[in-house]
Amino acid sequence: DRVLLEVRNLTVDYVGDTSIARAVNGIDFDIREGEAFGLAGESGCGKSTVAFALARLTRLPGLVSGGSVRFQGEEVLSFEKARLKAYRWREVSFVFQSAMNALNPVIPVSEQIMDVIETHNPELGEKGARARAVEMFELVGIPPQRLDDFPHQFSGGMRQRICIAIALALNPRLIIMDEPTTALDVVVQRDIIEQIVELKSRLGFSVLFITHDLGLMIEFCDRIGVMYSGELVEVAPASSILTNPQHPYTRALGSSFPPLSGPRQRLEGIAGSPPDLRALPQGCRFSPRCPHAMALCSQTAPELRFYPEHESEAACHLLN
Ligand code: SF4
Ligand code: MG
Repeated sequence: DRVLLEVRNLTVDYVGDTSIARAVNGIDFDIREGEAFGLAGESGCGKSTVAFALARLTRLPGLVSGGSVRFQGEEVLSFEKARLKAYRWREVSFVFQSAMNALNPVIPVSEQIMDVIETHNPELGEKGARARAVEMFELVGIPPQRLDDFPHQFSGGMRQRICIAIALALNPRLIIMDEPTTALDVVVQRDIIEQIVELKSRLGFSVLFITHDLGLMIEFCDRIGVMYSGELVEVAPASSILTNPQHPYTRALGSSFPPLSGPRQRLEGIAGSPPDLRALPQGCRFSPRCPHAMALCSQTAPELRFYPEHESEAACHLLN
């Protein structure tokens, strides 16, 4: 499968007055054409920071301080203004948890969709933009007769669908979704995710999917990267990440995950919490919590390595 987005040694810092916290510490991964790639991990592990960096949306005190992000071979981190504008909408677009609240309440949604379409495709004109808006409404399952309604006339689920319609309007190659359905009730969530899966297979775009809902992620994604304390500790096929986890942290995530239903549990057998980014442990960042930690673990940080027998990459001394 061809690589769409290639992330190498991506490093993001949060710069304070007196200290620097390295929120993302030199991570590597690829997103392939047509693939849904998930980023999992506890809150604060750097997932959203990665998403923002890929979109060149990092703002101070955040700072992309190193690495490379190549989109179809082009270096995104060195795009200048005009190229960046095209990249952000035509090639990559976003749906955030709060996206539905970003719709302007006093402007009909038709104008808000058409605005995006016309800005990037002035040749379409108003008529063409409206036709495209109608098409997008149909695509996400909202009756086009409602195009001129105001945001408050729609339910939360419908507003989020409208945001997905806007995100898809320019036919991007990659859609970054950070907790896209978290604010919605479970049935609506599943509905929307199923619809995105269907659209993905029809239109062929790739997805970077971030959610705290591991079940939803496994169902929806082809591969999953597990982050811990700003680093990728495992990247594996979604189908085997819980049944054949390689990294002790992935195993802990999996054991805290109820396979069918029931309440979320704390990480089983793993005491403590992720380290303070300004006072990191030596060696493996997971070592203070890891039930398998050895002397080596608190001396040397393990590197992410590919293990062909598992089709997965993992960073753990146990595996060597
Ligand atoms: Fe545990 Fe050591 Fe592996 Fe880190 S490197 S996860 S401390 S066994
Ligand atoms: Mg987040």
